[in-house]
Amino acid sequence: MNYRHAFHAGNFADVVKHALLARILTHLARKDAPFRYMDTHAGVGLYNLTWDEARKTGEAEGGVKAYLKAKPPGPLAELFAPYDRALAAAHASGKDFYPGSPLVAAALLRPADRLILAELHPEDVRTLRKRMGHERRVIIQEMDGWQALKAWLPPPERRGMVLVDPPFEEPDEAARMIEALEAAHRKWPTGIFACWYPVKDWRDAERLSRDAAALGLPKTLRLELTVDAGGDARKLTGTGMIVVNPPWMLKDEAGLMLPWLARVLAAGPRTGWKADWLTGE
Ligand code: SAM
Repeated sequence: MNYRHAFHAGNFADVVKHALLARILTHLARKDAPFRYMDTHAGVGLYNLTWDEARKTGEAEGGVKAYLKAKPPGPLAELFAPYDRALAAAHASGKDFYPGSPLVAAALLRPADRLILAELHPEDVRTLRKRMGHERRVIIQEMDGWQALKAWLPPPERRGMVLVDPPFEEPDEAARMIEALEAAHRKWPTGIFACWYPVKDWRDAERLSRDAAALGLPKTLRLELTVDAGGDARKLTGTGMIVVNPPWMLKDEAGLMLPWLARVLAAGPRTGWKADWLTGE
């Protein structure tokens, strides 16, 4: 387990992932009934962009810092408002702080909703506990996220979502994600599953989408954004999310958000985005 998210916090992939996550949570919060947010690979919840790790890579420059400089115009502002709320929640700790997915969720969930978070790295679990352990609606578990996914489903509220956001440092992580998604959907067919994936070599990203489609689950949406043409298979040039059972507006919303994000987060002349159904509609 070498991956440390502090090196990548607030990069372009985080901005896209968290802005879309914020949309899903906003839709879930429109109904009165409480729901559960489940995060299988939670990280530490809050990142200081002046930490050595973040400064070393400077990735936030092309991510959240570019986002904050650009500010979504006109009607887009409303779509990004929940993400802005999450950023504001992080900024309460200082202007250089960036929210991880647990804090994005905490900023948007209501008092009766629940968060359950799994993280395997003991040091990250300690930090996460320090940051969020005092909240009554938050459960933090030091455990393998893939095991957590099996144990958590279906949630007692019967409403909610799972974010699956592994580090992709093992070559079999994509296959593992597809396998886990199939098993998770069997246990909870009506749940929303948001599975993040990296775009380095576009062929790997295509294979993952094909494998997700081949599961034949009724409603599978692919959301993807590339900030550069690629060529170096070690470099992250894009970010994707497979969403099973998305809120019905999400595809159209992403169709407005992603083209703007592609312009703002561009790292080269060839950017692109996708918001398409892999199965169903
Ligand atoms: N979801 C976080 C966010 O958006 O702010 C970022 C998560 S980061 C991409 C992946 C995290 O997974 C790291 O914090 C890493 O320590 C943790 N991790 C690695 N292997 C794990 C496993 N098997 N189970 C749970 N967590 C794991």
